[in-house]
Amino acid sequence: MIEQTLVLVKPDGLIKSLTGNIISVLSETKLKIVAAKMVSVSKELAEAHYSELRQSLVKKHGEKKGNAIFESVLKYIQGEYHTNRVMALVYEGENAIEKIRKLAGSTNPEDANPISIRGKYGRINSKTNVFENVVHVSDSKENAKKEIQLWFEPEELTNVIYPTKKRKVTMDKIVWE
Ligand code: ADP
Repeated sequence: MIEQTLVLVKPDGLIKSLTGNIISVLSETKLKIVAAKMVSVSKELAEAHYSELRQSLVKKHGEKKGNAIFESVLKYIQGEYHTNRVMALVYEGENAIEKIRKLAGSTNPEDANPISIRGKYGRINSKTNVFENVVHVSDSKENAKKEIQLWFEPEELTNVIYPTKKRKVTMDKIVWE
């Protein structure tokens, strides 16, 4: 089954100069990179990306601590603790989601396999309690589709697997002077 999956090198991955290293580890999968770009993450994008996380953190940690961790996770992905840049990539190929997840490791860097990306390079920030785990990777087909469509326009992918449609748009665009 050919799948596409979203990978984000998070702000801690960038500040630690791990981008090349991460791409090199992921190349072991022989999957194809079909899109890549640098993004300054807005609050809106952060909230849309983590639209279901607040609820699960509150359930796990209670109202006060769960909400506090969620707010810190939003700040983390927006770069408030490191740098306001994220590298977004789309990988494509047979079982892409599972292959990339395996190399990324568990969400909690302390639980992650020590030879996985998160196990090697992640940490728990003791001030914010946030798992600073260096990468985001899609965890299911449903989320991969949602996330790729949130972070990328169809024209930014060299190969498109989800349905598209034509729509006339008129908008201002910033161009070179
Ligand atoms: P994943 O990124 O593995 O898909 P989630 O979507 O559950 O995991 O969480 C999103 C991000 O929020 C994680 O990558 C991590 O940075 C942070 N996070 C999630 N759960 C916790 C937690 N219990 N404590 C601290 N940070 C967390």
